[in-house]
Amino acid sequence: MNLTVRGLDARYGSTRVLHDVSCEVPDGTMVAMIGANGAGKTTLLKCLAGLHRPSAGEVMLGGAPVAGLAAHEVARRGVCLVPAGRQLFGDLTVAENLQVGLHGTGARGTAATERLERVYGLFPILREFATRQSGLLSGGQQQMLAIARALVREPKVLLLDEPSLGIAPLLVTEILGVLQQLARDGVTILLAEQNAAAALGIADHGVVMENGTITRTDTAAALLADEDVSRHYLGTA
Ligand code: ATP
Repeated sequence: MNLTVRGLDARYGSTRVLHDVSCEVPDGTMVAMIGANGAGKTTLLKCLAGLHRPSAGEVMLGGAPVAGLAAHEVARRGVCLVPAGRQLFGDLTVAENLQVGLHGTGARGTAATERLERVYGLFPILREFATRQSGLLSGGQQQMLAIARALVREPKVLLLDEPSLGIAPLLVTEILGVLQQLARDGVTILLAEQNAAAALGIADHGVVMENGTITRTDTAAALLADEDVSRHYLGTA
């Protein structure tokens, strides 16, 4: 489902942190959002998920306006955020966390089992550890669970906040591979990442956020090849 942002502003109290943000995530594509710490990536994702109310601007989901709607309303329309830090229930098992994801979707019995089978197929380690307390998993495995918990809701739009943060490189590769697969299957993905090389390596398009505004929009390949982007975000050139 097409996600379009136009002229978005956001504030925390009197501090304006997003200024006139415009970007588009076309249906079934992946857009990587790169930018330094504090650039405003998390705030934009929160605005898109209905967790922070923008002070101006439009968010269109499949052509319908959603800016200012409550988080549960945005979720009901198929938008799911995998937050930074994962926010799992550490005392609950892997399977119980996935049940939390299923809550409110209306999927029961066979339908629920099919959804669980699908995410266990994407992340086989979660099946293996289904009865393990999720707080005991490695960072990468917890990230897989956070993504799986979103996926059992069968989102049309998946927003991810720094899924590679603090995770072993091998698991980052596995997680990004799954995201690429999801995009191929038609899920619309906006991926905020400080690991710019990895994110641009799998995305269709990229946007660069600096000081609360989007300063570059291009194909991921063009951004990867760009000297300025390389110098500032890829640690090369
Ligand atoms: P990071 O990668 O560190 O999460 P980010 O690009 O996601 O950075 P945001 O977290 O959106 O950036 O922060 C944008 C700006 O808003 C920063 O200057 C930050 O200090 C400020 N900010 C974030 N959350 C709050 C809050 N709850 N109250 C006040 N200011 C905030």
